[in-house]
Amino acid sequence: MNIILLGPPGAGKGTQASRLEQQRGMVQLSTGDMLRAALKAGTPVGVKAKAVMEAGELVSDAIVSALIGERLDGLDGAGAIFDGYPRTAAQAEALDVLLAERGRTLDHVIELAVDEDALVERITGRFTCAKCGEGYHDRFKQTAVAGVCDVCGSTEFKRRPDDNEETVRTRMAEYRAKTAPILPLYEARGIVARVDGMADIDAVTQQIAAILDRANAPAA
Ligand code: ADP
Ligand code: ADP
Ligand code: ZN
Repeated sequence: MNIILLGPPGAGKGTQASRLEQQRGMVQLSTGDMLRAALKAGTPVGVKAKAVMEAGELVSDAIVSALIGERLDGLDGAGAIFDGYPRTAAQAEALDVLLAERGRTLDHVIELAVDEDALVERITGRFTCAKCGEGYHDRFKQTAVAGVCDVCGSTEFKRRPDDNEETVRTRMAEYRAKTAPILPLYEARGIVARVDGMADIDAVTQQIAAILDRANAPAA
């Protein structure tokens, strides 16, 4: 099974992708994570993407589609969760080709519907474990013990430089202008399911599970 999690910055894509990995053995393909890794490693792609990401604008379609293609090749049989990709019509077209070349089909596009005003608070309160990458939030998903990662026990955390209010506004505008318009393309194929992204984290996980399991059930 291959699925897209679609939603604006802070909608909960990464949070839900990580749960799907743990619960279903699927693999999260986050272009944001890939670009941040490239930046950290100082690769040519990272160097090129840095200023664009800091401004909250979109990195070129060719760069991100190439990253996705490379990662798909390493997946073997595991199902893919596309998180933060595709973000433009050109990327959606590229994804169709990348999947077809590998004999994969796109089963679901899950739209996380969220109230834009809530996103700024989600993004500005977001932090992750520096060691294992587990995601947290100052208010909505605190660590069980203050300052200690629930998953790995690390006491080091980090915040993204682009998770500030000004950049978030640009990222939301990019989402509205370039990403939301790809939804009708998938709606025409009958593969879009909408979940209430304003519900709490566990409730969103349950809504997604219901979609994946319903669709997986053998036809009566
Ligand atoms: P995205 O990957 O879509 O940008 P994240 O999964 O990183 O979003 O979530 C953004 C922030 O909001 C994180 O700090 C996360 O812990 C928190 N969060 C995610 N889902 C919810 C939710 N349903 N309710 C409240 N906070 C959430
Ligand atoms: P979020 O989880 O908050 O939606 P991401 O981690 O997905 O943010 O992306 C961070 C930044 O990386 C984006 O603002 C953009 O600059 C770049 N980026 C990530 N994925 C893509 C993509 N598919 N196309 C273009 N730029 C991307
Ligand atoms: Zn950790």
